[in-house]
Formats: sequence, C-alpha cells, structure tokens
Amino acid sequence: MARVLSGVKSTGAVHLGNYLGAFRNWVADQDSDDAFFLIADLHAMTEPYEPSALATGTFDVAADLLAVGLDPARCTLFVQSHVPEHPRLAWLIECTVSFGELSRMTQFKDKARQRETVRAGLFTYPALMAADVLLYDADRVPVGDDQRQHLELTRDAAVRFNNRFGETFVVPEAAVPAHGARVMDLQNPTKKMSKSESSPLGTVLLLDPPEEIDRKIRKAVTDTDTEVRYDPEKKPGVANLLELLAAARGGDPATLAGDFAGYGPLKEAVSEAVVEILAPVRRRAQELRADRGYVTEALRLGADKARTVAAPVLDRAMRAAGLLAPAGGFA
Ligand code: ATP
Ligand code: MG
Repeated sequence: MARVLSGVKSTGAVHLGNYLGAFRNWVADQDSDDAFFLIADLHAMTEPYEPSALATGTFDVAADLLAVGLDPARCTLFVQSHVPEHPRLAWLIECTVSFGELSRMTQFKDKARQRETVRAGLFTYPALMAADVLLYDADRVPVGDDQRQHLELTRDAAVRFNNRFGETFVVPEAAVPAHGARVMDLQNPTKKMSKSESSPLGTVLLLDPPEEIDRKIRKAVTDTDTEVRYDPEKKPGVANLLELLAAARGGDPATLAGDFAGYGPLKEAVSEAVVEILAPVRRRAQELRADRGYVTEALRLGADKARTVAAPVLDRAMRAAGLLAPAGGFA
C-alpha cells in the first residue's frame, strides 16, 4: 500500500474548493492507500489570528473532515501541534533549503505584499510543510494546484538531504486532480477560492445552507458575452462554473458547455449539483460539532498513530544530520 499524506490549514471555514480539490479525494484515498491527513494549526499561526478562534477553528475543521467521510479506523487524522516531531524536523529542513528558494515561493510573495509586517513563520512555512510530508515517508501527496510549488521544494529538500547525509527521506510525488483542482472565487474568477482571503459572496462554504449556495452561484461573475463556452483565458467566470459542474457531476467542462444555451440555465445546473453534494455533508457536520467527545477521541487516536510513524523518522533524520543522540534516541 502506498503511503499518502495531505493537509489543511485551520485558518477558517472550509469551502467548496477544499472539498472538490482535496477532501473528496481523501475519502477515496483512505481505502486504496495508507492515508495520513493533518490539520495544520501551526501553519494557521503564520498570519494574524485570534487566539480564541484557533482552537475552535481546528476542532471545526476536524468535525468537517469526519463529516465528509474520513474514518479514524481507516485513516490517520491528526492535528499538527499534537505531534511535536513536526517543528523539530522543520528545523532540519530550514537548515537544508536556502533563503533564495524560500524567497521564490509565489504564495509567500503574494501574501507578503499584502502586509506591512511579515512573520518569519510565513517565510519558513514551506520548510514546516516539507517536514509534515517527510515525517511520514509519504509516497504521494494529493494537493491542489496552489500547493505544487511547495511540494517541489519538499522534493528538492528531500533529495538534497539524502545526497548530503545518506538515504533518509522518501521523495514524494505530487498528485494534482484533473478537475476541481483549482476552484476559483465566484466573484473574482482569476483568484482561487480561499479560506484566509475571504470573499464572502465568492466563496461557497461547506456549511452554507442550500439557499445561500444558490444565491452565491446565481450572483457569480460571468461576462458581457452570452455564449457558454469553455475558455479559461477569455471567459474565466464561465469556465469556473463549467469546472464546478464537471467536478460535482462528472464529465468534461468543454463538453458540458454544449448543454447550455445561456448563463441562467448553467448557473441553475451548477447550483443544483453543488447543493446535492453538500447537503449530506452539512447535516453530518452539524451533528459532529455537537459531539465533542467523538471528535476529541478521534484526534487522540490519530495523533497516537501519527507519532508511531513520525518519531522513528525524526530520529533517523537527526542522527543522519550528525547530531549527538541522547540516551534512548531522539523520539
Ligand atoms: P488558506 O487561504 O488558509 O491557504 P485554503 O483555502 O487555500 O486556505 P488550504 O488549507 O491551504 O486551504 O488547503 C487545503 C487543501 O485544499 C489543499 O489540498 C489545497 O490544495 C486545497 N485547496 C485550497 N483551495 C482550493 C481551491 N480553491 N480549489 C481547489 N483546491 C483547493
Ligand atoms: Mg492555501
């Protein structure tokens, strides 16, 4: 069985992009692979946040993931800060990658441009992400298109570390899904739908009631033309709706375009398809938010399982890097 690892930042309410681009595939992965999923609460600290909202956000994301269908008996679902090996390995990675490489990360450049004060943690975040992956000897990392560059850095770091210190890490492959890999903001279809850069009307939340989903999709930005055609360059809004329909219902966006005579019927079909897939998730997520004991226990089990894998890998890496091992090892 291949080892698979993926993660989500606990920065806010999860949305349709997270679901179609990531979570839905994770549910399938837990049956075909040895799957690890982390809720990245340490990554959520790289930008300004409310301390009172951090724990709630982490809990809610966990409940949402369980609602989507992750099963603690079939996968390892855990919170990053519950496994202390993550920041420890991140240090070794920070000492493996360069300032220049981190400076070239487009996500960092985008986010840094928008702030007066940029936290060092935002800059070194890709090193922590590399540690998240490498600690589990992951063969495959399912990610959205937005995470491709960070994964490339992870691979470079693993190869460099192995060359310098001897075979230590498994070099992971990125797995980017064909459709739904990049769901765009409904109001600004050249920008991806996102948790942290929230655009309330442009973001369909996992827990939005059907009326709200319908309202947002009907208000989605298209263009002054009226022809339904799949052309991401010239018609990004329409292309996004077609991508959404293809992801939700199956099929190919360019072919689906032929079924619609205008934007109205297209939006109606997208809205119906999205409501249909999200309704059961929403019901289950609401139940789970009220069941703290179940969620907490699932996360305890997950952290225990994660540590049994992460601890020996950390020990291996610390020794390979040349550090003096304490009695009993680094774990
Ligand atoms: P943030 O704004 O905090 O970065 P995010 O919405 O980008 O939040 P992440 O926690 O960074 O979400 O990513 C979780 C998973 O969802 C990743 O696999 C990521 O590639 C995927 N993902 C995020 N946004 C989208 C999107 N718009 N379309 C498809 N997949 C997405
Ligand atoms: Mg993101």
